[in-house]
Amino acid sequence: MKILLLGSGGREHALAWKMAQSTYCEQLFIAPGNAGTAQYGQNLDIAVSDFEKIKTFCVDNGISLVVPGSEEPLVKGIYDYFQQDAALQHIPVMGPSALGAQLEGSKAFAKQFMQRHNIPTAAYREFSEETYEEGVAYLRSHSLPIVLKADGLAAGKGVVIVSDHEEAVAEFTQMIKDAKFGDASKKVVIEQFLTGIELSVFVLTDGRSYRILPTAKDYKRIGEGDTGLNTGGMGAVSPVPFADKAFMQLVEDQVIRPTVAGLEKEQIAYNGFIFFGLIKVDGEPFVIEYNCRMGDPETEVVMPRLQNDLLELFKAVNEGTLSSQTIYEDARVATTVMLVAKGYPEAYEKGKVISNIPAPTQDQLVFQAGTRAAGEDILTNGGRVLTITSLAADLGIALTHSRQTAEIIDFEGKYYRRDIGYEFV
Ligand code: ATP
Repeated sequence: MKILLLGSGGREHALAWKMAQSTYCEQLFIAPGNAGTAQYGQNLDIAVSDFEKIKTFCVDNGISLVVPGSEEPLVKGIYDYFQQDAALQHIPVMGPSALGAQLEGSKAFAKQFMQRHNIPTAAYREFSEETYEEGVAYLRSHSLPIVLKADGLAAGKGVVIVSDHEEAVAEFTQMIKDAKFGDASKKVVIEQFLTGIELSVFVLTDGRSYRILPTAKDYKRIGEGDTGLNTGGMGAVSPVPFADKAFMQLVEDQVIRPTVAGLEKEQIAYNGFIFFGLIKVDGEPFVIEYNCRMGDPETEVVMPRLQNDLLELFKAVNEGTLSSQTIYEDARVATTVMLVAKGYPEAYEKGKVISNIPAPTQDQLVFQAGTRAAGEDILTNGGRVLTITSLAADLGIALTHSRQTAEIIDFEGKYYRRDIGYEFV
């Protein structure tokens, strides 16, 4: 297969690393990629949502599979774009249709879908400009804290949790009346606050059957002890210690199966990953959010633990034989620790020389995120710079290995959390 992978983060480095190991991988291209993905294929100067350029490249180069890493091209309809074009129809896109991607692209769509299919999630209501006054009244009578969510994509910033009614009304007003998140907050979902512990569950599906991949838990806050601003993710562990067999059975019965059955019933085309952002409340799973792609940095712990040939799984999705596949997980635990630029997630500098990146071993891999090559040098090129994944028999050992390498790799202004997985060691 000649594959085109779309994206430029640590997730795409991990996907490139994984796919490059497959016997089915003839050639790999990454658009736009980073200095890490370039080790496994050819980077292309094409943006992930430039469908015209993607089309020309696919046709000219005989691409046989497109793998979008992030939600952006999926929500913008890359699947449908390929389906509707006679020159592209034969090239499978490993992701949902634009309608399926609405599970991530619209929180109101996702909540309605969950309601229709009896999937456990926080109680909610949705409001828009027309129902603004009703929304204000609803907020004033709502128990505290209250969760407000801009309906559309807002770069991970569209969710606000408030513990005061007037603050909630002010936030709601900014979203609806002042377009705080542009069109994304034309609609707002107001939902009940759930108290519990979060985890991520991933499946690969062809829209009828599914296979469950290794679980993971990510760490979003910049500061140790889960303090400070939200980030794209500062680290992750896999598997999740509290996602035991009994709990995962509940997840499968109450969340995964009804979701995939719902897609099939509603004839929503969906070939690819579903990411279930879950919260365990009194032993029961609730869906916090759906994403229509893998997580970053969760991919950097899930892919190293997945022992299957990823392209064989993708092939099975496209050929409708996914149900005959068995997923094999490495018995070792994995952890990943993200090195970020000073100042991230606020303003930060780029262009710092990165030194001492070790070569991959059987139990450690460095996945690059915001990096670019400049001659012989690798330079920082983003807030999240690279992530160090370690595999070991025990989480404590894996964490120690990642931290040791985090000390050795260097660039000016390097910062990382030393407490990834702290609840479990
Ligand atoms: P992401 O950054 O993962 O893309 P998002 O902007 O799509 O996030 P959500 O995942 O829906 O938004 O919410 C972000 C975070 O807010 C969750 O990970 C969770 O910690 C918290 N959260 C969301 N909804 C609830 C809820 N109902 N109860 C408690 N916490 C919640």
